[in-house]
This record gives sequence, structure tokens and C-alpha cells, in this order.
Amino acid sequence: MRDLAAQLEARRKQGLYRARRILEGRQKPQQTVDGREVVAFCSNDYLGLAAHPKVVAAFRKAAGVYGVGAGAAHLVNGHTRAHHALEEELAAFTNRERALLFSTGYMANLGVAQALAGRGDHVLEDRLNHASLIDAGLVCGARFQRYRHATGVDLAQRLASLDATGERLVLTDGVFSMDGDLAPLPELARIAEAHGAWLMVDDAHGLGVLGATGAGSLEHFGLDARRVPILMGTLGKAFGTAGAFVAGSEALIETLIQSARTYVYTTAMPGALAEATRASLRIVQDDTKRRETLFALVKRFREGAARIGLRLMDSITPIQPILVGDSARAMALSDQLLEQGLLVPAIRPPTVPEGTARLRVTLSAAHTRGQVDRLLEALETAHEAVAPD
Ligand code: PMP
Repeated sequence: MRDLAAQLEARRKQGLYRARRILEGRQKPQQTVDGREVVAFCSNDYLGLAAHPKVVAAFRKAAGVYGVGAGAAHLVNGHTRAHHALEEELAAFTNRERALLFSTGYMANLGVAQALAGRGDHVLEDRLNHASLIDAGLVCGARFQRYRHATGVDLAQRLASLDATGERLVLTDGVFSMDGDLAPLPELARIAEAHGAWLMVDDAHGLGVLGATGAGSLEHFGLDARRVPILMGTLGKAFGTAGAFVAGSEALIETLIQSARTYVYTTAMPGALAEATRASLRIVQDDTKRRETLFALVKRFREGAARIGLRLMDSITPIQPILVGDSARAMALSDQLLEQGLLVPAIRPPTVPEGTARLRVTLSAAHTRGQVDRLLEALETAHEAVAPD
């Protein structure tokens, strides 16, 4: 048996130990964690909908109708009218024939890869894809390779060198979760089409945020839905609720219903949650001001950070990492900010590549300009510690 305690201690010494914090109350910028008042810059609640009164009211009301637990899988008798309506609305929102709810984004990714690819097939993934997409490619049993980050030429070369048999599935994040940059979707779509490959985009961080109507990375690029046959979106980020969906053709969705194991063999998300998500979808679509506020804050942060001389990444999104390099230093910096009442997590390997530890700042429409300025001031004070190696 492995000495787990010794391994944990070694991890702690390397500055790689992950610890949880206890949050009191709801998700909002000003919050209490571990008994301390902080302003958090780490939530994925990009539009500030996780505790929006209309979403909460819809949840409460629907709990009166549907109760709390769904009680069974979708294919048994857990698929309520609320789930069904949400699926139809998500299909319309993403301009697809159909959409299918999953309990989490992790499960949606695993389910799609397993349903579409297996032994004798090929999965190709961006090197910096989210762990759930990488796991999806690894566990589905297909031959698996990673292409250079956001590099169409490398993907095209790899596709060209595959043998002629088997399905080809190309998986990419729309917005990369640790860097905040975008996948070159028009180029990837062209390459996938040229090589007869399925293209699947995980738009967990793009949906609700990018595009005039919040329809995500595809809308940002003006890319027709037909160019990306499989779209995955999560509901626990900009939508402020929980769960995920896959959108695509009628045939794709029916295939997933028949054979995606993470769909078939799991309890449906609560119906009340689906109803709450319908309320948040309406806000995502109608309240364009939230996106305007969010992007004004992104601009303010980037301009301020550039003035201070921080190393930002190539991101136009609310994910604005500050590159530090060394894990222990990133941790020290995060601790220093916490001392000043600012919660900004240090992201370290193996979540990000060796030597690229960073502070991952995420912004939300719920932040105020004053809070962003406070963060910039604190970062300026700590500038010495943040400066690159
Ligand atoms: N894909 C990406 C890009 C993500 O960032 C996440 C969550 N961090 C997921 C998938 C998983 O989604 P969920 O949290 O709903 O499991």
C-alpha cells in the first residue's frame, strides 16, 4: 500500500497542495470565506446570475411543483416538462435542431466521446483542453493524440497522417479555461471538414459571455452552427445554475440518448434546476447590459494591469490570468492578496503546464469598478513578487 500521508506531505512541500475554503452564503463578489470578508475574483459566475432574484424565485417556485430530487434517470421517469422545455430553448438559443441535458459538463464530455468514438477511431485534442475533455478522449478507448495549442497546421498534419479507417473526433475548448484565449474555430472547422472529422467545441466559458446574444464562441466568430456539429455548454458558469447540455443534429442527440453512458446511467438534474435555468437563459438573452458591464471591467482590468507591467495572457474574455511561473511564488502572491481581502487563486501544475503557475483572475458583471481598482492597487503593491523570473 502507498504511504498516502507521506505523498500528501511531499505535495504540500512542493507548494502543490490543494485546500478547500468554506464559503458562507451565496456566490457574489463580496463574500465570506473561512470566516473572512473578501472580494472574490475566481468565480465562473460571469454574469452574476447564480443568486439573481429572478433565478432564485424560479427555482423556489419550481421546487414547489417538481420537488427537489428528480428521482430517476431521464430514460426512466426523471425527465420532467421543465427539462424538456429547457432543452428546446437551449436548442433554439444555439441554433441547433436539438439539445440534451447532462448533469455536469464533465459527464457531457465523457458521454459524447464514448458514444461517438471507441477502438479503431481517433480522437485529437488541443493540448490545453479542459481535463474533462482530455479524460473523455482517454477513456473512450480511441487512439488519442494532442495537437499544439490552438494550432490548425499541427491538427491538419496529424489528421492527414491517420489511416483511412475509423471515425475522427476533434475536441477543443472554445475559450481555454486556464488561459482565457479562444480556439481558432473557423480554421479548425475548415480543417475538420476537409478531413471528414467531427468537430466538438466545449464552450463552457464562452456561452452567455461572448457574442452579441451571448451565444458564445461561434457567435463571436460569426461561425454558422452547421460548421461545428457538436456543441457542449455548461450551466454552472454564465448561466449561474448547474448542469450542462450538448446541442447538435436530431441524429446526434438521439444517438446520445441511446448510448451515452453518462446520460443513460445517472439521475436527471432536478427539474427545479432546469426551471431556474430557463429563467437565467432569458436573462442571458435579454439583458445585454450585463455583457457590456463585464467587458468594460475586462478592459479596465487589462489597461490597469498593463500600466503596472503585469504579465497578462492573450485573452479578451473574463478569464484574465497573470503569469507568475514558479508555483511557490504564485501561492505566496495569492496569500498576500488574501491578506488584503482579495481572493485570487494560484493555479499550479498539473492543472497548468510546468513553469506556468499563475494567478487566475476572473471577472464578473457583478463586480464594481471600485473592486477592480482595489485588485489593481493590491497587485501594484505586490508587483515585485509578480514580476517574471
Ligand atoms: N469544460 C470546461 C472548459 C470547464 O471549465 C469545465 C468546468 N470547470 C467543465 C467542462 C466541466 O463542467 P462541470 O463543472 O459542469 O462538470
